[in-house]
Amino acid sequence: MLEQNEQAEPTHPPESALARVRPPRYDFMAFEAYWAERWEQEKLYQVDLTHASRPYYNLMMFPYPSAEGLHVGNMYSYVGSDIHGRWMAMQGYDVFEPMGFDAFGIHSENFAIKRGIHPRVLTAHNVARFREQQLQRIGNRFDWSREIHTTDPHYYRWTQWIFVQLFKNGLAERKTAPVNWCPTDKTVLADEQVIDGQCERCGTQVERRWLEQWFLKLTRYAKPLLDNLEQLDWSERVKTLQRNWIGRSEGLEFVMEIEGMPGTHLQVYTTRPDTIFGMTFVALAPHHPLIPQITDAAQFAAVTTYQQTANRLQANAEHNDWRLYRHVRFASFDR
Ligand SMILES: [Zn+2]
Repeated sequence: MLEQNEQAEPTHPPESALARVRPPRYDFMAFEAYWAERWEQEKLYQVDLTHASRPYYNLMMFPYPSAEGLHVGNMYSYVGSDIHGRWMAMQGYDVFEPMGFDAFGIHSENFAIKRGIHPRVLTAHNVARFREQQLQRIGNRFDWSREIHTTDPHYYRWTQWIFVQLFKNGLAERKTAPVNWCPTDKTVLADEQVIDGQCERCGTQVERRWLEQWFLKLTRYAKPLLDNLEQLDWSERVKTLQRNWIGRSEGLEFVMEIEGMPGTHLQVYTTRPDTIFGMTFVALAPHHPLIPQITDAAQFAAVTTYQQTANRLQANAEHNDWRLYRHVRFASFDR
């Protein structure tokens, strides 16, 4: 007798009615491969983008080929979005569902370093696996004839073109800002790659460095972004996340003169201008560019020591050394 959890194919006497109506066993491997090939041959999901009468753009986030394969969370979002695309196609829309690979960035670089393989070779290998063994097998209606690679010069010439337009319109600027720097790997690290003040890759103490970087002036659009958020049919939770990310606050900027140093001044932003006249001291960030200029010779060594340790202290706030912090505070205040 069979145990209940054994996966045995039920059998019926050949002469029974049930045996006659039972469909053949579903051989999904053969069945799905057959239809996937037919869809490709008949170009079923290729859309005439120039002449489509009811165009519908069903875009999903492109995966980062920075690992051996996609995980089930990727499929969860792709399959759901594909169901939407199929629904729209059944409504008579010309659904364009592209797919591509976003391979630039720190994750691909890290994976290449870890495996000791050139990122171009490794990325091509990962993309092939993502496409052939994973994305094509889930049966989404992707138009593979328009596959995109962000690392392809034919693609990124357009991102460069967009950057040039932003620059020409005064929306891209170069300025100095602090970054996390690993002196061993000689690279900039994202905040999430700094674990307890140490480099995620090699464990070296991370330094804070001021480097020249490009910035896009997204803040110029903060107000329209916030205003237009109201028109979107998004959940209140997502809208709140967006508002916090845009991070707009209303306030004013003012300038403070530094005693004994004509022409040198400090720019301050505040949301509470009514409190300005109650100020008793000024605190500067440890790596503020004015610090080398305004620090007293007597305090210079202490301030430098503090600057060297500031990043570690920031990463581990409970160990903050308030004694040194006060030196910085008075170094700027005493002038
Ligand atoms: Zn490192």
